[in-house]
Amino acid sequence: MTKGNINVSVENIFPLIKKFLYSDHEIFLRELISNATDATLKLKHLINMGEAQVEYGSPMIEVKLDKEAKELRIIDQGIGMSAAEVEKYINQIAFSGAEEFLEKYKDNAKDAGIIGHFGLGFYSAFMVAEKVEIITKSYREEEPAVRWICDGSPEFSLEEYPEKTHRGTEIVLHIAEDSTEFLEEYRIRELLNKYNKFMPVPIKFGTKTITLPLPEDAKEDQKPETEEVDNIINNPTPAWTKTPSDLKDEDYKAFYRELYPTQFDEPLFHIHLNVDYPFNLTGILFFPKLANNINIEKDKIQLYQNQVFVTDEVKGIVPDFLMLLRGVIDSPDIPLNVSRSYLQADGAVKKISSYITKKVADKMASLIGENREDYESKWNDIKVVIEYGMISEDKFYEKSDKFVLYPNTDGKYFLWNELEEKIKPIQTDKDGNLVILYASDAHAQHSYIETAKAKGYEVLLLDSPIVPHLIQKLETSKEKIQFQRVDADHINNLIKKDEPVIAKLDEKQKESLKASIEEGISDKTFTVQLEDLDSTDAPFIITQPEFIRRMKDM
Ligand code: ADP
Ligand code: MG
Repeated sequence: MTKGNINVSVENIFPLIKKFLYSDHEIFLRELISNATDATLKLKHLINMGEAQVEYGSPMIEVKLDKEAKELRIIDQGIGMSAAEVEKYINQIAFSGAEEFLEKYKDNAKDAGIIGHFGLGFYSAFMVAEKVEIITKSYREEEPAVRWICDGSPEFSLEEYPEKTHRGTEIVLHIAEDSTEFLEEYRIRELLNKYNKFMPVPIKFGTKTITLPLPEDAKEDQKPETEEVDNIINNPTPAWTKTPSDLKDEDYKAFYRELYPTQFDEPLFHIHLNVDYPFNLTGILFFPKLANNINIEKDKIQLYQNQVFVTDEVKGIVPDFLMLLRGVIDSPDIPLNVSRSYLQADGAVKKISSYITKKVADKMASLIGENREDYESKWNDIKVVIEYGMISEDKFYEKSDKFVLYPNTDGKYFLWNELEEKIKPIQTDKDGNLVILYASDAHAQHSYIETAKAKGYEVLLLDSPIVPHLIQKLETSKEKIQFQRVDADHINNLIKKDEPVIAKLDEKQKESLKASIEEGISDKTFTVQLEDLDSTDAPFIITQPEFIRRMKDM
């Protein structure tokens, strides 16, 4: 048996790890399963390259709980370690074997999906365990199995361990007194579900009973047989890792339910992200039905790295306006610090954010092209997100004419160029500005809407809360356009259509009626106007200058 001191530059690194490295103790399980996954994928890679002559089989990772013995085990069938490798990879802290592996097999290991990176993950075990054992046997037959034991001090022991005859590694955690929560089955299940649900190697946690289907010739009172099978907690090939052309709409919906088992709504549509240059990123974003269900705290977009859950705090990676979306983003290229929270200020992160913005814009443009009617029917549910995107992201705004709809009060939808074409002949003021009339409240502004429509004008219904900002954005970036709310005074400045006007009152009657209405209005910024048109149900209208209305609105 070897005894020794773990090679650390700081005298006793464990208290440091325990206190500061990871604020969240629960991540130890993620780290250990990540290592087990790495070890399994490394073996596969070596076999593929002809460097290991062993049978890969269908390896899985097992998580085993023994509450009585206060032990939690993570068992894999990966490459394992020789005594020398334990010395090197475990005893020399912060000498990351994963990094070395990637370095050595650089050009073809990139696609192997190795997770480890910092060479500290293993030691997170000491956040919850008072003693850790590693029992491991290398895939190289000639290497004897070994057992390493460490109680959290820099001392360790390492000995041969012939009891272990199978390739792979078993990590035994002797759970500490202050961490007994990790001896609870529900707690481990919860962690597996949070961090490991989509990891690439099957993970077994206990068994479950399944009911077998009855045979065709079953008797009427025959009870179905049951069988005890491995309880595999993960889906190793989630939808986002597949090629979009291999997936149907149904597959995306099924994945949505898998991701958010407590959501009962159906997503409106999905966006499959897939890029490998200049950075690697895959994922699927879903537009949920937002109209009456804005719950941003729950069921957010999740960030993964190589199928390992990292966080659902994606601010910065996903532009703000897309934070209401749901789904998954997986990128090994998002720089993380040791505790795997990502670095927001990083340039790569900004690039990712603008890629996502562009991708969403392109998808919207293609959706409207594919099925305009369907897109229109969903517009009400997505418009807040899109309008917010237009005012907050210039890159998004620049493309928005292709997919932003402007509905009129009768539920007809226009793209910007369609709108322009439609209203140009009649809604131009004397300075040549295109005047876009809109209502913000179809009910309250009903009379104004009817009056304008009777004059042949097109009235848009722009009723989301950020419309004032959207209008400002459109007016400053498009030439010679002017928005006018339908109850503003400018409506009279438009070039009118030639229509016969039937006056009901003579001029004198009008004057006195006007005067008496004006008397009743205290705010003198309003103007009273008597209506001439026969075809409207409003005998007079009250307007105020658009600029004053806007000032009051702000
Ligand atoms: P990282 O995963 O970032 O490299 P860790 O501290 O998590 O750092 O692990 C250190 C090294 O120990 C790994 O790179 C690997 O070489 C080795 N190792 C850890 N767990 C296993 C395992 N289950 N099987 C084989 N090797 C392992
Ligand atoms: Mg690791």
